[in-house]
Amino acid sequence: MRVLVVERDPTYSRASTVLSVGGIRQQFSLPENIRMSRFSASFLRNIDEYLGVPSDPPIDIQFQPSGYLFLASPENAASLEATVKLQREEGVQVALLSPKQLKVKFPWMETEDVAVGSYGLEDEGWFDPWTLLNAFRRKATSLGVHSCSGEVRGFVTSAEDVMPPPSAALTTTRIKYVHIHMPDSLEYQPVACALVVIAAGAWAGRLLEGSGIPGGLCRPPLPVQPRKRYVFSWHCPDGPGFSCPLLVDTTGAYFRRDGIAGNYLGGMSPPEGLEPDPGDLSVDRDYFQEWVWPRLARRVPAFESLRPRGAWAGYYDMNVFDGNGIVGVHPRVQNLFVGAGFSGHGLQHAPAVGRALAELVIAGRFQSLDLRRLGWDRVTQGEPLREAAAV
Ligand SMILES: Cc1cc2nc3c(=O)[nH]c(=O)nc-3n(C[C@H](O)[C@H](O)[C@H](O)COP(=O)(O)OP(=O)(O)OC[C@H]3O[C@@H](n4cnc5c(N)ncnc54)[C@H](O)[C@@H]3O)c2cc1C
Repeated sequence: MRVLVVERDPTYSRASTVLSVGGIRQQFSLPENIRMSRFSASFLRNIDEYLGVPSDPPIDIQFQPSGYLFLASPENAASLEATVKLQREEGVQVALLSPKQLKVKFPWMETEDVAVGSYGLEDEGWFDPWTLLNAFRRKATSLGVHSCSGEVRGFVTSAEDVMPPPSAALTTTRIKYVHIHMPDSLEYQPVACALVVIAAGAWAGRLLEGSGIPGGLCRPPLPVQPRKRYVFSWHCPDGPGFSCPLLVDTTGAYFRRDGIAGNYLGGMSPPEGLEPDPGDLSVDRDYFQEWVWPRLARRVPAFESLRPRGAWAGYYDMNVFDGNGIVGVHPRVQNLFVGAGFSGHGLQHAPAVGRALAELVIAGRFQSLDLRRLGWDRVTQGEPLREAAAV
């Protein structure tokens, strides 16, 4: 088997992976997401066994162990408790803390409006996304994977499988060639292929639209779109300190420490209807002043005197259908696989998704983790599979 990775931006300047905050958690509400996180934690712990290259130094992923702390208001307490029950059934080590217990453990926190908190005790924290990306690349290269700098702009499908109406509902096709636009050429380079895996993050939906696959076959479209998310950093010498968890507030705002010198970073997904224009990655600093800071200062009074520092923006690869990844074979394009739409939790699930796609390609079915519920079918059948613990 020969594998070609096509990447249009060798600097990864807009890739979500390198613009993320590098978090891994076990606290999800869907068994599939929990199981992927459980695998990823063990993958990261043993990263040299998976991604080590004999002539290279050991990989230092710079893992910072730290639990996520999800806070629930009285209205959301029952839902959080039910989620924790499921997590424990899946083997996740997680504590439920009352407001009193929260106050003892995290004395810097305001808990008056909190009913309960869930705190991860194992396999949560954050790591350096750039190191993980490079480790994957180096390992792939060492195994003989080819790479190409260029943009996939379309596909050529085989005409013979396309059925005319009235059998159109059963029509399937295959991709025969991929059109790649090289940076130093006006020509599209057609590359013959046996199969295609779309792992184009936030751009996966756009890539399939107008890609040359006969229109009707791509309906409903792949519901993955870019959603701009800001990450703000600040300095606060009197902040929570080293034992600070990655806190997800009742309001949806989150923060974590960044190093050990009184620096923090955080953000908040905007409410519906206030999505920023995803046209560029400029940062709206007023968003921090008006939305993020007041919420965090209510939770952590010491943050009232924080000093804002830098900020950046990246794209969530948002599955606008149900906020979960889509992993599997296209229902009508037989040799088109996708792994996209992870909506803010795709970095930590990348090892599990890569393994799952490899199994599908080689064995024709999931072997390690059953991810069938994350396939395309739910989109074509209009049955969303929602994750309650989205951030
Ligand atoms: C602010 C922020 C914080 C986040 N925090 C976390 C977190 O804490 N934990 C977590 O697990 N996840 C987090 N995420 C989500 C995570 O970053 C993404 O889910 C994940 O990185 C997606 O990986 P990917 O490889 O699919 O996409 P990307 O990393 O975006 O890679 C896709 C690549 O495809 C290339 N590409 C696109 N179209 C084409 C084309 N037509 N031809 C050739 N190449 C193309 C792009 O150039 C890009 O390099 C966060 C995201 C953001 C924005």
